[in-house]
Amino acid sequence: LLEFDEVDKYFGDTHVLKQVSLDVDETEVCVVIGPSGSGKSTLLRCANRLEEIQGGEIRLDGVPLSDPDADINRLRQQIGMVFQSFNLFPHKTALENVTLAPLKVRGIDEDMANARGEELLEQVGLGAQMNSYPNQLSGGQQQRVAIARALAMDPKVMLFDEVTSALDPELVGEVLEVMRTLADDGMTMMVVTHEMGFAREVGDRIVLMADGSVVETGAPEQFFENPETERGKKFLSKLL
Ligand code: ATP
Ligand code: MG
Repeated sequence: LLEFDEVDKYFGDTHVLKQVSLDVDETEVCVVIGPSGSGKSTLLRCANRLEEIQGGEIRLDGVPLSDPDADINRLRQQIGMVFQSFNLFPHKTALENVTLAPLKVRGIDEDMANARGEELLEQVGLGAQMNSYPNQLSGGQQQRVAIARALAMDPKVMLFDEVTSALDPELVGEVLEVMRTLADDGMTMMVVTHEMGFAREVGDRIVLMADGSVVETGAPEQFFENPETERGKKFLSKLL
């Protein structure tokens, strides 16, 4: 569904993605791990065209993101992204945050957008907080609003970049639980995380990046029990 085909990315002279090839299949949860600076965030940002690539191709459903005939806004709507920082609009309620893009970008009728927004907020466990403002919500609740906001565009794939890293430890679980439910419901997901329990239990595939390359991919049990590469072994030994 989401294909990276020999993707090269440079920041100036720095080669940060080196011939990265990876296919995320429909309904698959692909968990990307690796040391700081290995290119995980850059990979996700390229998938959303927040960054341009200098070589290779990224395709969604077979359509290259760089296709001049492709509607980039349309493609971008099909790729939901959630970051470490929630970036909610502070002067809008939870529901308004969720309905803003469908109303503005997709021109959906207000009643429909509200109904869908309420449904999504219920789904992330925030049925009682729809009219709260971000500063009235905990970090975990705000991050769940951010997830609902991304889902409101009916994306084909969801990208998550360390969405629990900024949260107090006691709030991490509720966000991971929402992601787990999303995965169980069949959402195609690419997840950058340091939460190895989540990677192991929810991931269908682990992708280990190091120094801008994919150095190992495998099923979670296989990767965590018996990594094939030296890089994989080294990465796991540092977790303990
Ligand atoms: P972390 O685990 O710390 O989030 P990461 O795996 O997400 O790391 P990236 O943020 O993708 O790593 O960074 C990959 C490399 O690209 C790093 O060497 C980083 O310094 C460099 N880099 C990232 N963004 C930029 C930028 N806007 N300009 C220049 N270099 C950048
Ligand atoms: Mg990162």
